[in-house]
Amino acid sequence: MFAKVIIDQDAKALDKTFEYIIPDDMPVIKGMRVFVQFGARILQGFVIELSETCEYDESKLKKIISIVDPYPAIKLEMLECMNFMVNKFHLKQASILRLFIPAEMREGRVRELFERYFSLNQNIELNLPKNAKKQIEIIQYLKDKDEERSSILNNDFGVSAVKALLDKGVLQEVIKEKKRSPFAMNESDKKVVLNDMQQRAVDSICENKTYLLHGVTGSGKTEVYMHLISKALSQGKNAIMLVPEISLTPQILANFKARFGEEVAILHSGLSAGERFDEWRRLYSGDAKIAIGARSAIFAPLENLGVVIIDEEHEQSYISESNPRFSTHDVASFRAKFNKCPLVLGSATPSVESYEKAKQGLYELIELPTRANGREMPQIQIVDMIGEIRCGNSGVFSNQLLADLANIINKNKQAMLFINRRGFSSFMRCRDCGYVAKCSDCDVSLVYHQEDNRLKCHYCGKQFKVLDRCPSCGSEHIKHGAVGTEQVVKKLQEIFPEVKILRMDNDTTSKKNAHQKILQEFKNTHPCILVGTQMIAKGHDFEDVLLVGIVDADQSLYQSDYRSTERTFQLITQVAGRAGRGQEQGKVILQTYAPRHYVYKFVANYDYKGFFKKEENIRQVACFPPFSRIVRILFADKNEENVRQLVKVCYNEIVKIKEEYADEFLYLDVMKSPIKRMQNKYRYQILMRLKLSKADEIESKAFETIDGLSKNSVFFEINPSNMS
Ligand code: ADP
Ligand code: ZN
Ligand code: ZN
Repeated sequence: MFAKVIIDQDAKALDKTFEYIIPDDMPVIKGMRVFVQFGARILQGFVIELSETCEYDESKLKKIISIVDPYPAIKLEMLECMNFMVNKFHLKQASILRLFIPAEMREGRVRELFERYFSLNQNIELNLPKNAKKQIEIIQYLKDKDEERSSILNNDFGVSAVKALLDKGVLQEVIKEKKRSPFAMNESDKKVVLNDMQQRAVDSICENKTYLLHGVTGSGKTEVYMHLISKALSQGKNAIMLVPEISLTPQILANFKARFGEEVAILHSGLSAGERFDEWRRLYSGDAKIAIGARSAIFAPLENLGVVIIDEEHEQSYISESNPRFSTHDVASFRAKFNKCPLVLGSATPSVESYEKAKQGLYELIELPTRANGREMPQIQIVDMIGEIRCGNSGVFSNQLLADLANIINKNKQAMLFINRRGFSSFMRCRDCGYVAKCSDCDVSLVYHQEDNRLKCHYCGKQFKVLDRCPSCGSEHIKHGAVGTEQVVKKLQEIFPEVKILRMDNDTTSKKNAHQKILQEFKNTHPCILVGTQMIAKGHDFEDVLLVGIVDADQSLYQSDYRSTERTFQLITQVAGRAGRGQEQGKVILQTYAPRHYVYKFVANYDYKGFFKKEENIRQVACFPPFSRIVRILFADKNEENVRQLVKVCYNEIVKIKEEYADEFLYLDVMKSPIKRMQNKYRYQILMRLKLSKADEIESKAFETIDGLSKNSVFFEINPSNMS
């Protein structure tokens, strides 16, 4: 027998299969990892095919040296998934297969974990001197508990006492397999009876289709997901549920754990290597039936799926923006089709792209238009910050926000203050009239680049001089950059010295479980103000939060990104949704320098459909996705001359394609990437915007041409959201 093997190396030249002979006594199965001789080295590879005959000269083939694991780490469905991803995203096979198993497993760094316990040896006669107090305490302790972890005994009673008992043979060692359990927060299961809307949603989601579940914040989508998962389990099937940046919402996890217990496994980057491996194994073996996690959980080694769910489907984090670049929706759709099960996309603010698909009938739309507890949505009040400046208040907080905060504090309730900070780029804004510099061609905001002190458009590469005077009102108060959380906390603490103020951002949450600690403290403190970035926007369900303040809503509005208005709508709706989730009505203060921007009118009225209509129209007129496709081809190399040469050659080839498909190109150009150098590599890009009609065809042609010209990998990005 022969095996076709993909070598586990990330080199373009190795992106094909190599044939090896399977020794007679070696139980090799498709999907297994094996060790093989490759040139002078011994490398790991994946067996992706078995055959009776070989294509190469048999006398030149080598034998597989050994198998890595006694089971096929890549299941058959995932081999199919690999093929799908190769075609869809132009990725190398090895880099896809690597996504399917925990990284630590590839590097041979994780094993099952064992722990030392001690128990009393019943056969030993006890004869301790009275002054051996600690030793006597240990014995007393173990009489009650039977056994205890060595680490705990050492810690509580001292190493020397433990050792003395061990030496006397009074203690005996017990080795146990340790279960690394990544759950920290405890929650009891709320038994909830579905309301009619929720029940209808659960009942109608049953076919092998994609459903878009559009439910306002607090409408009880999570409960719908739980019922869908229960339904799948009762049919003997498994389920995958994706949530964005899972570590940020320990509450959701705790709720699932409370409902489904050991049947839940979680997969995300916040776990330790050992925890991740254990969770992966539990899914692989069928001990766990539900995979919950961030983006990469879509590759969970589960078979026989009954439902695949993507919560907050509009979230940017579902598009992988570093290599390998893929879209989670597409992979999820593949897995749902493969398993003939429903795919559920849930959101209070679906992406324009998804909603457009629902409109065209490609997705089935299901709506939950009201909150599950029957409350009104919190009222959103728009505060004009330019008006505040005119009235002499040039601070970060409007008078209205301060008054409402004082009110919350008096009532012994809670507030959240949201600092909108996305990415590192900054726009230029006039402090007096709110004017923001935009590209004359693309109508997206320009990004300030410090290194050459210029404003640049990330879509067409056009450059502009930095403003020193506002072209609209003539003012010289032009600023870029945003206020930070630290600054806000400091100012707030000066105004409300008695009140507990907590901060949640990248700085305060770098330690493991720091999120949970801050959230736990917030939950238990009254009154309290939680100041935070995007991290506080999602998922949290605190019933005493009656006020949400959005300090500078515009920050996400002026990203150089055709989706920036959509993002702003989504973000603000999410944040606003944190208020008034309990019995009392909530309120939102939205501070903006552009109070007349259309997005705020729709946000304040919770008018998703109105917003969609407007946005759809703008995209259609401007020919932006979903009415066109943006393809960015990214080249990077340590040697700038090499990459420049290559980009030139490739660009000329694309120009030839353009001549053939002249009507299909809306835009084509070549330029340095906005971030010219990253990880010591020079970056160049070819950008094209294509009509949809022949986009697939052109994209494939471009890929084949460029792939043939380049020794190294080139990266294709479709409708990238981060153009840096
Ligand atoms: P969403 O995910 O849509 O924002 P959640 O799932 O977080 O909303 O639900 C909001 C709150 O409503 C939660 O506290 C949840 O327990 C509660 N809830 C959900 N469904 C019901 C129901 N049928 N009856 C009463 N409360 C419900
Ligand atoms: Zn101005
Ligand atoms: Zn432009």
